[in-house]
Amino acid sequence: MKEIFEPARLFMNNLPPSFIWEVLFRCVVVYLSLIIVLKLSGRRGIKQLSIFEVVIILTLGSAAGDPLFYEDVGLLPAICVFIFILVLYRITTYSISKSKRIEKLLEGEPVYLIENGEFAIDKFKKESMAFDEFFAELRLRNISHLGQVDLAILETTGEISVFYLDNDKIKYGLPILPHHFNNKVNKLNKNDIYACRFCGNIQKPKETVENCTCDKCGREDWVKAINDKRVS
Ligand SMILES: [Zn+2]
Repeated sequence: MKEIFEPARLFMNNLPPSFIWEVLFRCVVVYLSLIIVLKLSGRRGIKQLSIFEVVIILTLGSAAGDPLFYEDVGLLPAICVFIFILVLYRITTYSISKSKRIEKLLEGEPVYLIENGEFAIDKFKKESMAFDEFFAELRLRNISHLGQVDLAILETTGEISVFYLDNDKIKYGLPILPHHFNNKVNKLNKNDIYACRFCGNIQKPKETVENCTCDKCGREDWVKAINDKRVS
């Protein structure tokens, strides 16, 4: 029969004090694995939260939860988890502030997504990005096609900065309104203007052509381009 408020179990789950070293080891392993997994997920911050803050929330959250109601989880190891994770986090932020290289490795750099109305496909791997989300983000800023965008930059926080072209400088661009974007065309008519659905490249065929390949990315995936003004 277990005794209630029995100190050896309540504080130390009946383990010797040296168990704290094992807790330290577990913290380091979990902290590093979470950072690696979140880095590998390709996901940047979740809006304002950096991946480090996400790691903190995950680890502290579970360390705080278990000792609340599992009678065989001691309080002291959980408190040590808080302290160890905090120290690891402070070491991380300190190294980031001291070394440009570590900062670049852990936080990444801002990435140009759109330059002058087209995807900057030489600057990033387009396949690895969630484009539905990106287009939704642009639509929320009243953008209906890429020809309205001078620059779009993916910041290290996961947010996107957008610089617009003035209304008189707007050119033909890839439409991002769903009904328009999904309206693929196979045959490109002479003198109409088309946008590559992959890279946003604009093409104006001199002849009517079927299965035309994009000059920039080599794909055959077209939609009619538009040059609407941006209504804000
Ligand atoms: Zn293309």
